[in-house]
Amino acid sequence: MRSKWDNAEAAAISADPLALRVYTSRLLGSDPALVLHGGGNTSVKATAPTIFGEEEEVLFVKGSGWDLATIEAPGFAPVRLDALRRMAELADLSDSAMVTAQRAALTNPYAPNPSVEAILHAIIPFRFVDHSHADPVVALTNTPDGAAKVRELYGPHMLIVPYVMPGFILARTIYEMTRSMNWERLLGMILLNHGVFSFAHDAKESYERHIEIVTAAEDYIARFSMPAPDVSPTPEAPLQKLARLRRAVSRARGRAILASLDASAAVRAFSELPNAPELATRGLLTPDHVIRAKRIPLVVSASKPEEDVARYTAAYQDYFDRHTDGSLTQLDRAPRWALWPGQGSVTFGASPKETAVIDDIKRHTLRAIRWAEALGGWQTLGEKEIFEIEYWELEQAKLKKAGKPPAFEGKIALVTGGASGIGQACVEALTALGAVVAVLDMNPSVADQFDRQMALGIPCDITDDDALRAAVDSSVRRWGGLDIVICNAGIFPASQAIAEIDPDHWDRSIAVNLTSQQRLLRACAPYLNLGIDPAVVIIGSKNAPAPGPGAGAYSVAKAGLTQLARVAALEMAAAGVRVNVLHPNAVFDTAIWTPELLEKRAARYGLSVAEYKAQNLLGVEITAADVAALACTVAGPVFAKTTGAQIPIDGGNERVI
Ligand SMILES: [Zn+2]
Repeated sequence: MRSKWDNAEAAAISADPLALRVYTSRLLGSDPALVLHGGGNTSVKATAPTIFGEEEEVLFVKGSGWDLATIEAPGFAPVRLDALRRMAELADLSDSAMVTAQRAALTNPYAPNPSVEAILHAIIPFRFVDHSHADPVVALTNTPDGAAKVRELYGPHMLIVPYVMPGFILARTIYEMTRSMNWERLLGMILLNHGVFSFAHDAKESYERHIEIVTAAEDYIARFSMPAPDVSPTPEAPLQKLARLRRAVSRARGRAILASLDASAAVRAFSELPNAPELATRGLLTPDHVIRAKRIPLVVSASKPEEDVARYTAAYQDYFDRHTDGSLTQLDRAPRWALWPGQGSVTFGASPKETAVIDDIKRHTLRAIRWAEALGGWQTLGEKEIFEIEYWELEQAKLKKAGKPPAFEGKIALVTGGASGIGQACVEALTALGAVVAVLDMNPSVADQFDRQMALGIPCDITDDDALRAAVDSSVRRWGGLDIVICNAGIFPASQAIAEIDPDHWDRSIAVNLTSQQRLLRACAPYLNLGIDPAVVIIGSKNAPAPGPGAGAYSVAKAGLTQLARVAALEMAAAGVRVNVLHPNAVFDTAIWTPELLEKRAARYGLSVAEYKAQNLLGVEITAADVAALACTVAGPVFAKTTGAQIPIDGGNERVI
């Protein structure tokens, strides 16, 4: 590991200790092998003037909710050093009382909560203190005789601290260990099964010492590490099994979740190890990972996914019952990731963001397991220590603050014709409600149009059966299933009387507006059947119930589509899939309605464009966003008990009514 310190950058801020603290904190945070998603903490001691003109000693320590990679000066909570030092002398203090006392000692009441390690930072008699959960160091301690290995590697100038709970107990333990010790002789501290501390009066020295400690662990591991095993060619993942697994985990968690398959070479190689299930379920890399990833993953077996999940939740219940004192609020029993022997792994997150965090933890853990195995065996903290973190009073307090998630968070949608018009409005409405969306469109630019985290653009001609299936499969592979399908793609052929319809126009309208919709339902049905409150919304047309002259090719296809939806509602009800039809009329902010066409139509009726747009009983203009909002409502819980319905959205039309 190399130091990222840049003399020129540091020189510009060298007079400001807090600016330097921000700088080296970000250097630490920029390396995921050191710091992962809010892990680690740093501080600097400085003096600050009070409003009374006195100077007081302040510890600027990482505030909770901030990430070292992106931290800024306001992310450091200023706490009176004297108060923290006195707290270290207390024989006993609960962590919630500690949090309250730390807040009370802030010099700025609007600052974030100081890190739970603030007292520990305060008693280290150096200005700069850097703490990380560096993978190589922690992996080294997660082995038999880990403490002996650390001693052998770092010599007598490293303080080795046996594992205790973070928070007050850790600060108090180190306070006792170091009371009669000369800190000057120490180069750092290794906290077994937890992480590493470095410190110095100088920002650069503290940071670079941290890098040296981690590099020494890396070099030590490299001496023992074996090359990664070969991976067999990527097997075709059984996507229906994945969708069943997602449904079972969603039910266990009491909400829809995403299930992201990871078949990357490193994860696949691990999953193919004969003892992978046993290794993966020995425990965690560092105990704080339990909050995001739970103590152990689920192992996918040859039996039904529902049975694997039932076994997992029963084992979780036993674990809770073994350790609870009866006063704790039990968390959900659902796994956060699964090892799938031969296939790789599956991560279960409520959102793409949560999925990415769990995925990172999993990848770092699997790598550390490989290292530790080369060093004599992967050995982790016992379940009691992990339970204490999972059910820490500070974590329990957070449960009460948890807000309600967006209505469609964890749900997976697919929209055809999503690059523009009603389709695009549907994608925006669905993602705003928290759903992830596969966006199919003829237009190849759809691939670049969406942010990829919440919406994945897939160029696809829906009349190409193979392309359609591949698009549906790639969506399932990415998120683990399918809950909402909005059949929106369609074309509006030029106006022609039946006697004059160009055969190509007729055939194309039937192919796009009708046949491809059946093919889409066929490709989606196996996954919808395994979805969470699955729903299909068909974008029909006012032309189905109230056709107009000259639109034969269009109206006939849309009428056929309506009939297709009615039959689908009958057939798919047994699996709980709802199929409803919207009949929009005169939605003018779509690609079909060019300004020229609007002018022409308005002129035909002797109206202005504005009058023409609002030509309905209610005298209102209907927008793509209006149709999208209705589509989301129909796909959501309000319509949970409705299927086979046809709902106009046309401002009121005498012929439809
Ligand atoms: Zn820590």
